[in-house]
Amino acid sequence: MTAQAEIGVIGGSGLYAFIDDVTEVAVETPYGPPSDSLFIGETAGRRVAFLPRHGRKHHTPPNRINYRANLWALASVGVTQVLGPCAVGGLRSELGPGTLVVPDQLVDRTKARVQTFYDGEALPDGRVPNVVHVSFADPYCPEGRKAAVSAARAADWDAVDGGTLVVVEGPRFSTRAESRWHAAQGWSTVGMTGHPEAILARELGLCYTSLNLVTDLDAGVETGDGVTHEEVLKVFAGNVDRLRTVLFGVVRALPADRDCLCSHALDGLDTGLEPPAPPS
Ligand SMILES: [Zn+2]
Repeated sequence: MTAQAEIGVIGGSGLYAFIDDVTEVAVETPYGPPSDSLFIGETAGRRVAFLPRHGRKHHTPPNRINYRANLWALASVGVTQVLGPCAVGGLRSELGPGTLVVPDQLVDRTKARVQTFYDGEALPDGRVPNVVHVSFADPYCPEGRKAAVSAARAADWDAVDGGTLVVVEGPRFSTRAESRWHAAQGWSTVGMTGHPEAILARELGLCYTSLNLVTDLDAGVETGDGVTHEEVLKVFAGNVDRLRTVLFGVVRALPADRDCLCSHALDGLDTGLEPPAPPS
């Protein structure tokens, strides 16, 4: 069925050219509209749903993305594993532009984003989710991380295996003092979209793997004038082809049957909210 997929990719719209025979599928959710339609097709024998994180015209800033709708939309077409490539700033001099980091930890410094499905508030259809607390000590899927690192290395891109992504509210870049503070904590990369994507995936029992493409050295680390939007776009564009190659490799390498911690995230919890059932 064309409207069904097993793997979701949330990323910049330049990235989905690796999927064949793409069908555009508009999905409604109890949380309102997602960033855009899903673009569903096949690659490496797997069904993949691509969602442009900021909308296809890049019209939604990181702080206004409807993250709940995005994750719900992917789950509603059957997605169980999500890949989240994103542009980040490097917080250490050795993590310069063009570096790929597959983080294993996350720090949330966002300020005004809804970051749970389980807030006890009634949905428009009358369902009231319970207040539950999901484990998040290890925010990323171990199997997905393994697949991402090996797919990058197979493409001659020596991905950094592990690191901490700090997510800021945006859309502005950090001040020099903030960047120095982030770096002094030992964190690796700074981005604007990695949270709450990962926790919302976990709350639905989905796997989530973050792939951080470093587009700049953050303001406090470098000696120049600080990060500019043009610089970020330029480095991202220069790496889009190989990022697509890596995504193709990850899709091929992801296990078809899951038994990772993410797949058991909701075991024993009474959420009062059935995650969306995939179409039959
Ligand atoms: Zn997993």
